[in-house]
Amino acid sequence: MNFLEERILKDGIVKEGNVLKVDSFLNHQIDINLFDQIGAEFKKRFAEKKINKILTIEASGIGIAVMTAKYFDVPVVYAKKAKSKNISADIYKSEVKSFTHDEINTVVVAKQFINPDDRILIIDDFLANGYAMKGLIEIIEQAGASIEGIGIVIEKGFQAGGKIIRDYGYQVESLAILKSMNHETGEIIFE
Ligand code: 5GP
Repeated sequence: MNFLEERILKDGIVKEGNVLKVDSFLNHQIDINLFDQIGAEFKKRFAEKKINKILTIEASGIGIAVMTAKYFDVPVVYAKKAKSKNISADIYKSEVKSFTHDEINTVVVAKQFINPDDRILIIDDFLANGYAMKGLIEIIEQAGASIEGIGIVIEKGFQAGGKIIRDYGYQVESLAILKSMNHETGEIIFE
């Protein structure tokens, strides 16, 4: 069992509806030493790749992406949830269905921050149905940049996203993959 799986077992809480709450170290309160370890692990797993930028999505991907970026010594760009309708022509955008809230968000990145010659590592906290990841991939495709890999902290292996995104042919590295969880017993099993 790796450091993250141990932490999930210690502090993760299984909620109804296949939701894992990790607010005490990942999604609300942030354990910076754990994030540092996560960053180091992503660096190790993508060591062969020539990554010059990290892309994530607000809000919970940002902290992880920032700590990871320290190891690659590259900038982080995060896709923003667009709040108003007056979206300019200077942005790339995609629609992302929210897993945790029943809504569709338009997410945007200013064109000036992704260029065709960028070699991007995508980072996010969870991979569930893959909606967020598809949105980020679409934005990078619009920019004509290349995707060097995808780093996920927690993949819910019993949902479809992991297979869909791997079938696109990308290197997907998930630091913990959940095989199953049970909100009645609190049991969490990893792959
Ligand atoms: P997807 O787009 O792959 O369906 O879901 C990924 C997004 O939904 C992540 O960015 C994450 O914020 C959220 N998410 C999905 N499942 C969970 C979960 O079990 N727990 C938490 N805390 N967030 C989740």
